[in-house]
Amino acid sequence: MNKLKLATIWLDGCSGCHMSLLDIDEGLAAVARKADLVYSPLVDAQQFPDNVDVTLVEGAVGNQDDLKKIQMIRRRSRILVSLGDCAVTGNVPAMRNTIPVKQLVEQIYLRGAQAQPCIPSEGVPALLKHAVPVHEVVKVDLHVPGCPPPAGAILTVVSDLLEGRKPEVSGKLKFG
Ligand code: SF4
Repeated sequence: MNKLKLATIWLDGCSGCHMSLLDIDEGLAAVARKADLVYSPLVDAQQFPDNVDVTLVEGAVGNQDDLKKIQMIRRRSRILVSLGDCAVTGNVPAMRNTIPVKQLVEQIYLRGAQAQPCIPSEGVPALLKHAVPVHEVVKVDLHVPGCPPPAGAILTVVSDLLEGRKPEVSGKLKFG
């Protein structure tokens, strides 16, 4: 039997949702029997492939690179899951949203600099006006809240999706 393709992606997040994914422990072996992890911060893959069955997205969309990446990933993914509060609501990355980008950048790189105040202009993606949840820019098929979501709930979601079932996680998930 051909294995399904599973991917994970990390936008504006702290990696905590990926740490919770790793906390599945022996459940990872069960997932690996059903799917290949074809792209993720956890594997050495350079290109996001076509025809991915399930993609888990950690983090909000906060800059131009995030935006291009998530639009490409949406096109190449059959099921897209917002994993964790940053992806679902904007959460921590969105805390900057009340401050205009110019003011924010000047405060951090000029007024707040301890040495060599300079606003970086190369190799740094331009910030969007606001850090936004994933569903504000692309269609999301499933939201999995939590900061981070508990490992058991992630395992249920991934296992159900890989088995072609609608995940049943009522009572296992909450914000924060
Ligand atoms: S939801 Fe929480 S754990 Fe996940 S990336 Fe955001 S801050 Fe980190």
